[in-house]
Amino acid sequence: MNIYDRLGVKRLINAVDTYTIIGGSLIPHEVMEAMAEASRSFVNLEQLHDRVGRRLAELTRNESAFVTSGAAAGLAVSAAAAVTGTDLAIAQQLPDVQGMQRSEVIVHRCQRNGYDHAIRQAGVKLVEIGYVDGTAEWQLESAITERTAAIFYFAASVYSRGALPLEDVIAIGKRHHIPVIVDAAAQLPPVENLWHYTTKLGAEAAIFSGGKTLRGPQSTGLIVGTERFIEACRVNSAPRHSIGRSMKAGKEEIIGLLAAVERYLAMDHSAESARLERMVGIIADRLCMQELRIERLFPGPVGQTYPRAAVYLKPGAGISAGAVKDKLEHGEPGIMVGLTEDACGIVINPLNLSDVELEIVLERVSGIVREAQQLQQD
Ligand SMILES: *Cc1c(COP(=O)(O)O)cnc(C)c1O
Repeated sequence: MNIYDRLGVKRLINAVDTYTIIGGSLIPHEVMEAMAEASRSFVNLEQLHDRVGRRLAELTRNESAFVTSGAAAGLAVSAAAAVTGTDLAIAQQLPDVQGMQRSEVIVHRCQRNGYDHAIRQAGVKLVEIGYVDGTAEWQLESAITERTAAIFYFAASVYSRGALPLEDVIAIGKRHHIPVIVDAAAQLPPVENLWHYTTKLGAEAAIFSGGKTLRGPQSTGLIVGTERFIEACRVNSAPRHSIGRSMKAGKEEIIGLLAAVERYLAMDHSAESARLERMVGIIADRLCMQELRIERLFPGPVGQTYPRAAVYLKPGAGISAGAVKDKLEHGEPGIMVGLTEDACGIVINPLNLSDVELEIVLERVSGIVREAQQLQQD
């Protein structure tokens, strides 16, 4: 019997996205194997971080790299690193920033989101710039003071509507010697983003989730960036006794993320793209019903280069998109889908679906729509 079934935990089909709340992503076999191998020996954690960091830096075309226990943990230790630099004695004091010269972090008001709590965890004060619908360069310039430790920038397209372009933020940061740190947690694919923000654009560091499209362990994150900044991150992380000690990445996770990044870089991304496009095509064909209208959505929810299918319910369908979504979730097995922005359609994301699962999703969606049609006619 399956371990989840034995525990009475309902298994779900993920037709929505790499959401933490439903387990993020599935770890591929070869990554799991590497983790199992890592679990069989003791090693010195500092040496492991040295070697894995060096390898990850090479692979991702960055100066340096570091494995954290998640992208959110990456935000927390990056904020700490920006405040303390490489001084362990100063790092000891966090999250108390009293007496520290640089303890403020600048963020765009339009980029405030649930993850910025992770930045505040380091004790820093967030200084907001701009309006929800627009930000001017002078607003960033005038917010920079001798207390500024860093500028944090959220790369997700949903947070960029009223923000300055990242290139301009980096240019202003450089002029004032203030590091720009990019939260790029969900910005893969394209694979090039692993070096785009840092090596190409000049940000001090960029942070990726290890447990989203990289398909590493859920409790991993990747920071890439300059040698100096990554060293400051390490001062603020386990195994050292500093603020990140409570965000430990174990040897299995560290090796798991390395294996996942190696796999991701070796992947045939155009074949994967073609697989997802083919699935969106199948969705359009199979749900070609009078009550439905299918639309291909591109890019992904925060700007990633993968397609999804929006399935709009026409007014005569006799059931709302929200009700279809609920029925899918509460059926057996549970199927998680998204909703379109106007809530008039469901969104099916093939990213985490096998061919067999796609069949189940299509059966259930067409079944629910037919049933609603039947009820209307009775
Ligand atoms: C998912 C996400 C995170 C957190 O990533 P974890 O690896 O789950 O900690 C942080 N920031 C953004 C923008 C995200 O989308």
